[in-house]
Amino acid sequence: MAEVALLEVRGVCKAFGGVQAVAGVCFRLRGGDVQAVIGPNGAGKSTLFNLLTGQLRCDAGQILFRGERIDGTPPHQIWRKGISRTFQVPAAFQSLTVRENVQTALLSRQGRSRNLASRAAPLCEDAASALLAQVGLLADADEACGNLSLGDVKRLELALALAGEPALLLLDEPAAGMSVDERADLMGAVLRIVRERNLTVLFTEHDMDVVFGAATRILVLHQGRVLAEGSPAAVRENAEVQRVYLGGAP
Ligand code: ADP
Ligand code: MG
Repeated sequence: MAEVALLEVRGVCKAFGGVQAVAGVCFRLRGGDVQAVIGPNGAGKSTLFNLLTGQLRCDAGQILFRGERIDGTPPHQIWRKGISRTFQVPAAFQSLTVRENVQTALLSRQGRSRNLASRAAPLCEDAASALLAQVGLLADADEACGNLSLGDVKRLELALALAGEPALLLLDEPAAGMSVDERADLMGAVLRIVRERNLTVLFTEHDMDVVFGAATRILVLHQGRVLAEGSPAAVRENAEVQRVYLGGAP
């Protein structure tokens, strides 16, 4: 008997007007996979993520999480089932401290009011601090979010996604705009947390050093279709991937 995949994507399609952004994508993720989704700009990576989290509806195809259909399920319910993604920190939360933001997310996970800036103080404080320590932000816990550097905002986004206690974590360009050192640092933190929490990850990233350093599997998209899928070594050697994406550069 084949084991049930954590995530199974079957022939998923999404068009915008005449543009077929995602055109019949199929793949499976097993628990513990750290899978990179790579491909040129416009390949359909972000659209695919938006389909997985319910931000967009599929035109066709099916998405199964733990064997259960989730296509057509609203984003908040998908999040409750255990799929979290990073989002930009909402502008309204800029005046809250870093810790208060994480507390609010933790409370939301528990189904409690999201609007409790004034009452959040004693709630989930220890859990929030533990999470901030994991992402390397504990020293900035009492800073207002509006004062954070870009790198630290990215760490906070990761902490907020983790506050949802996901089984599957989706990271769309988690290190966008960061320096080479910051990228390596952030991906190091992600991989540590993934191992500690036994998470499964799907991530996009443009830096191939980061991709090949972090991924256990790689899915290559091109014009909305799967060009290749497999181990980093297999993908690196795939002639079609070389031609279309990795380029012939020595
Ligand atoms: P990637 O993340 O790989 O760069 P996207 O998923 O953002 O690619 O985009 C795939 C294609 O779909 C592109 O041609 C893009 O212009 C188009 N697209 C994405 N989102 C929208 C949208 N909301 N409206 C119209 N076209 C879109
Ligand atoms: Mg994108």
